[in-house]
Amino acid sequence: MILYYTTRQTKEKKMDTKVKASDRVEELTSLIDEKIDELIENNDWSNYLRFITTQRNYSWFNSLLIFLQDQEATFVRGYKQWEKIGRQVKKGEKAIDILAPQIARRCAEKGCSHKGRVIFNRATKNFYCPVDEGHRIGQFLTGFRDVKVFDIAQTVGEPIKMLDLKDKCGNATQEIWDALVSLAESHDFKVILAGAGSAEGYCSHERKEIVIDPSNDFGYRVKVLAHEIGHLLMHKDITDYQQQRGRYETEAEGVAWVVCEALGIHSEDDNYSFGYISIWGKDDVKKLVKESLKRIEKTSKEILDAIEDVV
Ligand SMILES: [Zn+2]
Ligand SMILES: [Zn+2]
Repeated sequence: MILYYTTRQTKEKKMDTKVKASDRVEELTSLIDEKIDELIENNDWSNYLRFITTQRNYSWFNSLLIFLQDQEATFVRGYKQWEKIGRQVKKGEKAIDILAPQIARRCAEKGCSHKGRVIFNRATKNFYCPVDEGHRIGQFLTGFRDVKVFDIAQTVGEPIKMLDLKDKCGNATQEIWDALVSLAESHDFKVILAGAGSAEGYCSHERKEIVIDPSNDFGYRVKVLAHEIGHLLMHKDITDYQQQRGRYETEAEGVAWVVCEALGIHSEDDNYSFGYISIWGKDDVKKLVKESLKRIEKTSKEILDAIEDVV
């Protein structure tokens, strides 16, 4: 009886917080919608892209949320996490809201009748289905919870050393180049230095090669290589390149921008072209922009991770 009562209590409590959290989720999601309208109107990606180079630990969605609430934020952690590293959130500081996914474990076996909780075996530290211990257990997203974080500027205490990729790489551009080439090679692509016609470079999924024009300065070649690797990773299954060209080029430029900015690489010819977003598609521009931002962020992180492993 008592057990039943306790479970019920927890359930009700949970439902309460769930309602509140989903209000907040809606609020935060509409903030993102607004911001995307702004992005589309001003065609200004650079602020946002600059920002995500400093927020590599967060999902694209949360990076965007942090950005909307504090464009200057550089290093964001929860209250307790700050305490752990010897810093204290200053009195009266307003928290930044992000959303943490709520994950539940459920039976993932096709046709299994068990829809509820799975059982945790303390001894083996495994979860299993009460219908059959052999059933596969999956993790399912059940919703989001509002989480409060603070930027380092809102805290005081022990100085912390923030080593970013810029410090780590220094002027090691050859190493960065080699790391990018290895990344391409790990996808079975060759990187060739040769004339690329009227372009600075191109990526051919058919021939599995990336061609980079060697006549540009080194920094610019790195930028072009990052752009082409962007195409390699994001655009392999594209069939409508001609119709959606502006969008795909913007995505590749976005990736090159984030990678070079994060590494502190600038070249003589530092110019990025972000195609005018509002002409991307007749349908749902906003939806396309969201997808693109997500893709740019995911791909840049993948490239930066690969570089970080090497340099
Ligand atoms: Zn089952
Ligand atoms: Zn391109």
